[in-house]
Amino acid sequence: MSFPESSSRPYEECGVFGVWGVPNAAALTALGLHALQHRGQEAAGIVSFDGEAFYQHKALGLVGDVFGNQDVIAGLPGEAAIGHNRYGTTGGTHVRNVQPIYADYAFGGLAVAHNGNLTNAATLRQALVKRGCIFHSTMDTEVIVHLIAISLYDTVIERLMDAAKKIKGAYSLITLTPDNGLLGMRDPLGVRPLVLGRMPGYEDKQGGWVLASETCALDIIGADYVRDLEPGEIVVINAEGVKSLWPFGDVGRRFCIFEYIYFARPDSILEGQSVYEVRTRIGGELARESGVEADVVVPVPDSGVPSAIGYAHESGLPYEMGIVRNHYVGRTFIQPTDQVRNLGVKMKHSANKAVLEGRRVILVDDSIVRGTTSRKIVDMVRAAGAKEVHMRITSPPTKHPCFYGIDTPSEKHLLAARHSLEEMRKAINADSLAFISFDGLYRALGHQGRPAENHTNCDACFSGDYPITLVDKDGKLIQQ
Ligand code: AMP
Repeated sequence: MSFPESSSRPYEECGVFGVWGVPNAAALTALGLHALQHRGQEAAGIVSFDGEAFYQHKALGLVGDVFGNQDVIAGLPGEAAIGHNRYGTTGGTHVRNVQPIYADYAFGGLAVAHNGNLTNAATLRQALVKRGCIFHSTMDTEVIVHLIAISLYDTVIERLMDAAKKIKGAYSLITLTPDNGLLGMRDPLGVRPLVLGRMPGYEDKQGGWVLASETCALDIIGADYVRDLEPGEIVVINAEGVKSLWPFGDVGRRFCIFEYIYFARPDSILEGQSVYEVRTRIGGELARESGVEADVVVPVPDSGVPSAIGYAHESGLPYEMGIVRNHYVGRTFIQPTDQVRNLGVKMKHSANKAVLEGRRVILVDDSIVRGTTSRKIVDMVRAAGAKEVHMRITSPPTKHPCFYGIDTPSEKHLLAARHSLEEMRKAINADSLAFISFDGLYRALGHQGRPAENHTNCDACFSGDYPITLVDKDGKLIQQ
C-alpha cells in the first residue's frame, strides 16, 4: 500500500496534554492545548474518560474554534482526558489525521496522543498491513495502536512496552486507559519534550496529575511543575500515584536543540532551562562572535525577540521594534506553495519606518530554512529606508532535514545545504550574514562548547549527526 508523498510526510510536530484525577478534565485540557497552540495550528482533539466510557471531539482548526463552545466541553465528561494539537504540514490535512486516536480492543478502550516522528513507521506499517491490519489514517500514531493490538502480552502496560521496543524515533506519547489511568512516555533519547505537573491542593489526595509538552501548559491551569520525564521513561499515573518504568535502560540523552532556538514558547522551562534565558544568551554569544558596527538591533518577531534583547544588551546598541508582526495570520511556513508563502510573509510582518529610516540595522532571526522569509524581510527593511542590513541568525545553518518531528523541507530546499555563506548573504540581499557557531550555541546552554563526545542534545538539522537510526525516508530504507 502506498500513500501520496504529500500525505505520508511523517513530520508530526505537535503539542500533547493529559490530566488524571481532576474535575472538568476536558476543560483543563482545552486550556492546556490553547497554551500549546504554537506547537500545532492545524487541528485539535480531546478524548475524555468518565470511569465508564470514552468521549471524543476532534476537528480541524485552532483550539479556540474547536473547543470554544461550552456544549462541546460538556460533551466530554470525566476526571481524565488527553488532548492533542496537530501541526500543519504540506498536504495530509484531513480529519482522519487528527489525534488523539481512540481504539477499542478486546481488553477495553485506549486513547493515544503523540508528538514526534517514528523513523521506522513506513517499514512497520508495511509489515502490519501484510498481516491484515487496516489503517484509517497516515499517522505514525496508528502504527503504535496496531502494535498494541497484536502484542501477545496480557496487560496494556506490557503491550505498550512491547510496542515501544519495536518503534524507533523521537516521540512523546500520552495514553489514556480505563484500568491503568494515564500513561506518559518519552523516546529513549528524550528528543521530544514531556513534563509532569500537579494541581495544587492534591498533596494529601489522589489525582491532580498533568502531563504536557511544555511547562507553559501547566502555568495556564495553575499546575505546579514536578519534573521532566526522563529519556526513555514511562510513567503510569493512577490512584496509586506515579510509577516509573524503564523499557529501554539508559541509552543517553539528546533533547532537541531546536526546541530552545525556535519551537518552544519562551516562558517554558525545558530540561531545567528557561527557553527565554537560553535565547537571550544565544543573542549575547552572537553579539560577541559576530558583532558589527550598527545603530540599532531589531528582532524578527516573535521568535527573534529574546535573542535580539540578548544581542542588544551585549553590544550596547539600542533594541527597537523595527518590524511589527500581525498576530492574526498563522505561521507562514505552513502555507503550501511558494507563491502563497511569499504573500504570507508580507501579511505577517511590516517594516516600521520610524525605527529603520537612515539607520544601520542588525536583524536577529532564529533560522534560515528556504531563505524566503529572510529575503522578504531584508527587502522590506531596505524599502523602509535602512542604510545597511546585517542579518544575525541564532542557529547554525540548517543543512539537513529533521526526521524527528520538526517540519523541515527536504535537503534540496534548504538554502544552507546548497550554498556558501557568501552565496546565502547575496540570496537574502543582506550587507552581512552570520550564524551562531556550534560552540556558541552550546555555551548558551551552559556547556563549555559543543561536547566532542557524549552529546547532550540532538542538533542533526545543523550537523547531520543523526542520533537515532534512520530506517525509512519517504518510504525507503536509507540506513540500518
Ligand atoms: P524560510 O523562509 O523557509 O527561510 O523560513 C524561515 C523562518 O521560518 C524562520 O524565520 C523561522 O521563524 C521559521 N521556521 C523555522 N523552522 C520552522 C519550522 N520547523 N516550522 C515553522 N516555522 C519555522
